[in-house]
Amino acid sequence: MKPQNIVIDLDNKLLQINWNDHHASVYDFTYLRRACPCAECQPWKERGGAPGEMPDAVRKAIGELKSVQDVSEVGGYAIGFTWADGHRYGIYNWEYLLQICPCDEHAGKKI
Ligand SMILES: [Zn+2]
Ligand SMILES: [Zn+2]
Repeated sequence: MKPQNIVIDLDNKLLQINWNDHHASVYDFTYLRRACPCAECQPWKERGGAPGEMPDAVRKAIGELKSVQDVSEVGGYAIGFTWADGHRYGIYNWEYLLQICPCDEHAGKKI
């Protein structure tokens, strides 16, 4: 699946992706920041440990998160964020964004 269009709602801190099969995913920024797939934010992924072992520094940054500074498309297969805490290493590809989609069908809240 590919996004047909992507809406950034800065006022409500939401990202909406309308997919080409007409599914719509709505993510709030805090949720997306928490789901940042990079090794710094989710070291447990590389070690194979349990989800949620987030470094304290990352947890603190998320707690203070107010907004995003920048959103950019990456090579047509992903989007990247520069978060208000300055972090910008996470690359969210379409497949990952669907996996973490918080709707009932995808139930991404498990992340
Ligand atoms: Zn990260
Ligand atoms: Zn969904």
